Amino acid sequence: MITEVDTGSRDVERLAQLAGPRQVELVHGAVKRGRARLAGRAVVNVNSTARGGGVAEMLLPLVAYARGAGIDCRWLVIEGDPEFFSITKRIHNRVHGAPGDGGPLDADQRAAYERTLALNYEELSERIGPRDVVILHDPQTAGLAPMLADTGNPVIWRCHVGVDHPNELTRSAWRFLEPFAHRADRIVFSRRQLAWDVIDPARRAIIAPSIDPLAPKNQDLGSGVAAGILNAAGLRQGSGGQPVFERLDGSRGRVQSRAALCEDAPLTRADRYVLQVSRWDALKDPLGVIEGFAAHVAPATDAHLVYAGPDVTAVSDDPEGADVLLAACQRRAALPDGIRERVHLALLPMDDLQENAAVVNALQRTAAVVVQKSLAEGFGLTVAEAMWKARPVVASNIGGIGDQIEHRRSGLLLDDPADLGSYGAAVRVLLEDGALTASLGRAARERVRERFLGTHSLIDYLALIEPLIRPGERAA
Ligand code: UDP
Repeated sequence: MITEVDTGSRDVERLAQLAGPRQVELVHGAVKRGRARLAGRAVVNVNSTARGGGVAEMLLPLVAYARGAGIDCRWLVIEGDPEFFSITKRIHNRVHGAPGDGGPLDADQRAAYERTLALNYEELSERIGPRDVVILHDPQTAGLAPMLADTGNPVIWRCHVGVDHPNELTRSAWRFLEPFAHRADRIVFSRRQLAWDVIDPARRAIIAPSIDPLAPKNQDLGSGVAAGILNAAGLRQGSGGQPVFERLDGSRGRVQSRAALCEDAPLTRADRYVLQVSRWDALKDPLGVIEGFAAHVAPATDAHLVYAGPDVTAVSDDPEGADVLLAACQRRAALPDGIRERVHLALLPMDDLQENAAVVNALQRTAAVVVQKSLAEGFGLTVAEAMWKARPVVASNIGGIGDQIEHRRSGLLLDDPADLGSYGAAVRVLLEDGALTASLGRAARERVRERFLGTHSLIDYLALIEPLIRPGERAA
């Protein structure tokens, strides 16, 4: 069953004000031209999950701001069975150069993939007008491109995942996806290095991901409120202000749900902590994060580690989550007493995504150091989120992370994500050098303001859509 995500609509003006005067001007122009060109057509986004992960995170504000600007923008979510999602997870892993579950990606998988998408298309075609512009997101939806193209819809396929250096596994995933992607009018990647060399450059576009500085995930929270939120969510003991935040519709939200924790004892307000926020995915390297901390950070400092991810039962398109979480808990349990006590694994409730976001916000704001020690990454939204909060970040120099952080200016980059010693040393430097931490944090916030706020994406998408519609042609 196709579901539509109700994003509401948001005032793009407030966003543009935060991005600066030049962006205000650019976004006004782009919206005016876009509305005239679309002339009644909708822009319909299609992906496979409404919750969890970077794509869902980015779509929500973008759709809401576009709607607020008078553009009929929507977000539909397709459905799949476990077989479909295990195939798409295999594709996802292979795109990143990893074998995943090691299973095949042959004619049988193609047939199952196409079957699921054909079923979805039956319902989608009732909800998408023949002239609406459709933006498909990620491998899960690429197979819809031929069906939509056949009906004449302008189609954009956005690939949010990838690696800078494709290996044979990556190429095997491209071979699977290419015949589908090929039918899209435009194919969007998050950075030039992720673009497939088998795609005609004329149909290729680059749009950097972005964050919404006004959303519960990134809005300013006083330190008292952040403390109150951490306390209310059961992540850290010690009272604070009211655990409240501003919801996307402007109403007041309150953090009430408690996280499930794999820990010996809760953090207290006196504890400094190093944070990674990620899904329970081997490519986010939770085991490396834990092991590197245990071997190279904990013995030399008083810091704690918090690895926070979504409650695994809630992320429907990620079947490996539970296994990865279990492995992380086991690795933690095997640590020596004095170190294990300082490692906290948190499962954040996902029933209310805005509440979840406010908790992530409070965790990021209160962290002494934020890490993103991924082994593969398309962009790494968590990095921009922490940078916007002026946090010192240590992150792998892979994918779009290298576009976000300038080494030693707006954060620290790790050239070899598997090198636990360098990861630990970088974290220790930031825990010890307050002046460096403050200057990296300040530069990080400006970097995000200049490049990675939602106005940039809105302008880029509208520019991409414009030539796909013939001027003067009205929607049916
Ligand atoms: N995230 C979240 N709650 C969680 C874990 C992650 O809201 O419990 C968010 C995180 O803040 C970020 C997104 O999920 O906005 C992850 O995006 P990223 O690009 O870092 O990685 P992806 O999951 O897309 O690979």
